[in-house]
Amino acid sequence: MIYCEENIVKELQAKCTGHSVIFYESTDSTNLQAHHAAGAGAGHGTLIVADMQTEGRGRRGREWESPAGCNLYFSLLLRPTVAKDKASMLTLLMAYAVYKAVDMCLKEETSSKDASGADLSVAPCGIKWPNDVVVNGKKVCGILTEMQIEGNGDYYVIIGVGINVGKQEFPPELADKATSLADVCPKEILRIPLLADILKNFEEEYEGFCRAQNLEAFREKYNQCLVNRNRQVCVLDPKGEYRGTALGINDSGELLVEREGDTVETVYAGEVSVRGIYGYV
Ligand code: ATP
Repeated sequence: MIYCEENIVKELQAKCTGHSVIFYESTDSTNLQAHHAAGAGAGHGTLIVADMQTEGRGRRGREWESPAGCNLYFSLLLRPTVAKDKASMLTLLMAYAVYKAVDMCLKEETSSKDASGADLSVAPCGIKWPNDVVVNGKKVCGILTEMQIEGNGDYYVIIGVGINVGKQEFPPELADKATSLADVCPKEILRIPLLADILKNFEEEYEGFCRAQNLEAFREKYNQCLVNRNRQVCVLDPKGEYRGTALGINDSGELLVEREGDTVETVYAGEVSVRGIYGYV
């Protein structure tokens, strides 16, 4: 299946996202292009996809490695009906949508059972709070969510997603931290069906979230696949690092971390990163 706009449009089954698709063989960053499109009046659900990015970005100015021909890089433009202060929660919905699609794909392609029916070979997949999808403890997907308030007071949100799908060599500094689906799955995973699955999963959660304006109904599902849950974490807070046990998210998507002495901190993703005690997870 050729990776192009026509095939992407044909394959997407989502109801309101991806009716308008802009595809680039190469671009600086799909998030930047989504900002340009939004500024020019592009509507809710517009999807920007690229085969490679020359300036792929992560949080706080970090880079996202974006070689050509093997990975998914896309940005979804949303003009949400929820209040602005709820928009940051959307990033968790997208992490869950990616997790679900990746997990299903790995189960379908790699599952093999022993005589007792126990699964032997599915690589463990989960979410590292708030929005990294990890496989075997390494990062397979990064998400960068940005919000912009427009001159008339309306706002839009861009959710940018990068997923390592195909075989690739990571630069040495990422070798311990990054992985791709091809590293754990012998069969080739096609990018367009994976993208279609992710958007379908996202829409399923998005509608409920817009009605509820909180994550109450979503919270337990998310917590079930949170790799940090009930594990020791190190909270890298610019005001001071501390350790504790991650309990899961609350209805606003903040991470609850229990410190010694039973105090529970509420961690907001903004300026804070969370790491495992011995490594990335
Ligand atoms: P945080 O927990 O604060 O989000 P992070 O290091 O995971 O920290 P992100 O902004 O999510 O930060 O992602 C950017 C980081 O991801 C880069 O600094 C780099 O370490 C790593 N990275 C860059 N490209 C890739 C890639 N293709 N696959 C996996 N990891 C990558």
